[in-house]
Amino acid sequence: MTPEEFRKAGHQLIDWIADYRQQVETMPVRAQVNPGDVRRQLPVQPPEDPVSIDQLLEDLNSAIVPGITQVQHPMHFGWFPSNASLASVLGDIASSGLGTLGISWESCPALTELETVVCDWLRQLTGLSEKWQGTIHDTASTACLTALMVAREQASDYSQNRGGLQAETSPLIVYSTAEAHSSITKSALLAGFGSDNLRFIDVGAETKAMSASALRFAIEQDIDNNLRPAAIIASVGSTGVTAIDPVAEIAEIANEFGIWLHVDAAMAGSAMLLPECRKLWDGVENADSICWNPHKWMGTILDCSLFYVKDPELLIRVMSTNPSYLQSTVDDEVIQYRDWGIPLGRRFRALKLWFHLRLDGPEAIRQRLRRDLENANWFADQVRNTEHWQVVAPVNLQTICIRHNPHDMQGDELDAHTLAWVNSINQSGEAFMSASQLDGRWMVRVSIGVESTTREHVEALWGLIQRAVEK
Ligand SMILES: *Cc1c(COP(=O)(O)O)cnc(C)c1O
Repeated sequence: MTPEEFRKAGHQLIDWIADYRQQVETMPVRAQVNPGDVRRQLPVQPPEDPVSIDQLLEDLNSAIVPGITQVQHPMHFGWFPSNASLASVLGDIASSGLGTLGISWESCPALTELETVVCDWLRQLTGLSEKWQGTIHDTASTACLTALMVAREQASDYSQNRGGLQAETSPLIVYSTAEAHSSITKSALLAGFGSDNLRFIDVGAETKAMSASALRFAIEQDIDNNLRPAAIIASVGSTGVTAIDPVAEIAEIANEFGIWLHVDAAMAGSAMLLPECRKLWDGVENADSICWNPHKWMGTILDCSLFYVKDPELLIRVMSTNPSYLQSTVDDEVIQYRDWGIPLGRRFRALKLWFHLRLDGPEAIRQRLRRDLENANWFADQVRNTEHWQVVAPVNLQTICIRHNPHDMQGDELDAHTLAWVNSINQSGEAFMSASQLDGRWMVRVSIGVESTTREHVEALWGLIQRAVEK
């Protein structure tokens, strides 16, 4: 494809995307396909002859779009808001169009330096002090794995330079809660800690937040048993019920015992753009690393996860490589982000944050987040004030966990009722919510915060839900 051919096809694609975004509200929210449906429409043999962009866009409409669960749909209330602001989409296109190679400062100085700048802008926008330096990872999963690898090396006096974990005699311990995201367990296992050495600390019965006193007890017990506490992961906004672990108290314990504290605010980090929400991560300044995803509620298109540390030297000590072919004369003046994380080749992700922050602007983003919080409060009030309905967990941000229980149903009967009404709505394509377990029983999470979701959509959802339980 020549640049001239690209210009023509590119205009068509941009028009197609704009049309798609205008029409997404008319589509079913959940993909109305069965396993294998998408694949069956595609040829088994790879193509030999090129097709026109018109043909390709037609196939995009007929074979691909029906196989998408439309998370940009205003009636999407599932999982979490996975916003993809069009301003950030333009930045992503610019990144692809430039075709840069991020393997060293020299391979793309602008990639490195814009990353430093936008991470610092977001540091300021979320009220973090100048002590923090950030980088962009693909996902919070990678950020947590990185944090745990650094914690592991610090706690083992850099065992990687000897026999690694395999030569350690006394196990290293990681502390989190059962409410933490599944990526926390995955990271602990991938970082080599072993499931026997991952402690799920007790949580409050209502709050589902980590008990700081139980944490202290577990750490003291482990030390008495000659085990070595290495890392604590505090969740600010857990996946199930948006539980907020008490970061200030946890940080005090972490500092007292010299344990790495990683704060996972993947979803809730967006809320820190609002000064009134920052009390939720009070104490965060005393953590060792923080991660949050602009690619969730804030709406910089996936993938875009921010990872902040106070001392990048600790990352470099564990992850630096310096082969001769990557060395340059300015190495001691520049940042080499490859040494702050796992991949060598890095995308120019800073561009989508730059486009998003400059074309939409932080104030518009803040207003949208506040709108969503008000909508969540409105929805929670409707549920609380309606007979047989219950809000089953504290509403800390924009997720409301609900149950309907008309005649004192218990156990399996209640589970069957909950799954029946939520599945009937999800299958209809009219709206989408996630069912999730709380204390071993099903409830429904209503996660508000799609960019196009207004009060009218939230009202429509409440109407749908009430009709669904009548059936
Ligand atoms: C979404 C989420 C994650 C995982 O995010 P990825 O970027 O998809 O890896 C981790 N923790 C919490 C609390 C989350 O909400």
